[in-house]
Amino acid sequence: MPQKMLQFVHVDRRMPDKRDAEARRHDFNEIYEGFDDRGAADQAARCSQCGVPFCQVHCPVHHNIPDWLRFTAEGRLEEAYEIAAAANTFPEVCGRICPQDRLCEGNCTIEQSKHGTVTIGTVERYIADTAWEKGWVKPRMPSAERGQSVGIIGAGPGGLAAAEQLRAKGYEVHVYDRYDRIGGLMIYGIPGFKLEKHIVQRRAEQFIKQGVVFHTNFEVGRDATLAELRARHGAVLIAAGVYKARDLQAPGSDLGNIIPALKYLTASNRQGLGDSVPEYDSGALNAAGKDVVVIGGGDTAMDCVRTAIRQGARSVKCLYRRNRANMPGSQREVNHAEEEGVELVWQSAPEGFEGKDGLVAGVNAHRIHLGVADATGRQTPQVIAGSTYKLEADLVIKALGFDPEDLPTLFGEPDLRVSRWGTVTVNFRTMMTNLDGVFAAGDIVRGASLVVWAIRDGRDVAAHIHSYLQRKAEVSMPESQESVAAE
Ligand code: SF4
Repeated sequence: MPQKMLQFVHVDRRMPDKRDAEARRHDFNEIYEGFDDRGAADQAARCSQCGVPFCQVHCPVHHNIPDWLRFTAEGRLEEAYEIAAAANTFPEVCGRICPQDRLCEGNCTIEQSKHGTVTIGTVERYIADTAWEKGWVKPRMPSAERGQSVGIIGAGPGGLAAAEQLRAKGYEVHVYDRYDRIGGLMIYGIPGFKLEKHIVQRRAEQFIKQGVVFHTNFEVGRDATLAELRARHGAVLIAAGVYKARDLQAPGSDLGNIIPALKYLTASNRQGLGDSVPEYDSGALNAAGKDVVVIGGGDTAMDCVRTAIRQGARSVKCLYRRNRANMPGSQREVNHAEEEGVELVWQSAPEGFEGKDGLVAGVNAHRIHLGVADATGRQTPQVIAGSTYKLEADLVIKALGFDPEDLPTLFGEPDLRVSRWGTVTVNFRTMMTNLDGVFAAGDIVRGASLVVWAIRDGRDVAAHIHSYLQRKAEVSMPESQESVAAE
């Protein structure tokens, strides 16, 4: 029986069941069970079908959320999936890892009126998972080949979103990535308890079926220069992401067992994927039995603390210089971490590290007072004099954010223009760099950001590359064939 909408006055907000925190501490499986058909329809029917849907406005890919909620409530799930997939290359990923509390759900009208948001993310996940189960997810095959090719540097969400769009339009698409698996941070950065790896791998297989050619273990600068890729392809997209960990300058920060977050998370994910990881086996990148201190307050910090819990750490603390209200990470992730036994140490920052035999043995931290708000609206941290105290630690993980690598040097292309932060500079109307036919998108342009923004950027840049290549084809085409190409 199809559900009527606007049920928020009768039906309470409900998330799918969450696994017990004690059980979650021992494995890397996702923490939420899925909705059943009834549960998803009931929750979708809570939507008030706003004339101006703020959920959609605040979604980076502008998902047509009210429509797919209505179709879900009516049991028309294949149509719901088609609408979701039309705006998003990875609805099954965004349904799991988007910080909906800061995006669609945080802006849902009924959340603002204190009825509790529509559970948009979990309904999205339900729609996408159902589509995979039922075999509705098909590779987007091109109707004709165009005879032009695009080279994409980076097999993360931005590069893959662009690859799918361009291949569907008939371009030969080659994706180059330095890692041995497809997915970028979705495969090696984000832990399995937020995004199980088979979810990423089955989507990657669709791109291969679609005809996208992947060149893994391929480093631009080592295996080919950017100039060589430009000669090989009609257009090149740089979607390399930002991977250089921000460092910490404090006495003792060069001690052993003080490690960057991504190195730690990659080792854990590789181990989970069945790879041999000597640094995990030796204990260098393994929290088992250790007192762990993670420094940072973003989602990567939460990924690290929750990974450490699952590896069997003796204690896990997260040191963050601001407070809960001013942290950049999702509140939902913080709640999960606390449920699983992580201690959040607010308004504290490392002053230095103590060592023993070359390895870290403790963190000297000082307390922080939050002053007036800065330009971002967050309160400025100020050290409280004489407030130093010590935390036991034999593993410290730095989760302080990421910066771009020096791409002009790395790619052997000194003329590639970058900003003073090292991000690649583009013309924002065309998304093209200063090099003709070389485009850039995702974190390497905007700085470290959300997966969903990379997807949006990847889809946008694909449209710009398509326009560019069409113009290029028209210039080189005899007049009689021009009408054929103007699709
Ligand atoms: Fe539905 Fe909330 Fe979006 Fe309004 S803002 S359309 S109630 S999900």
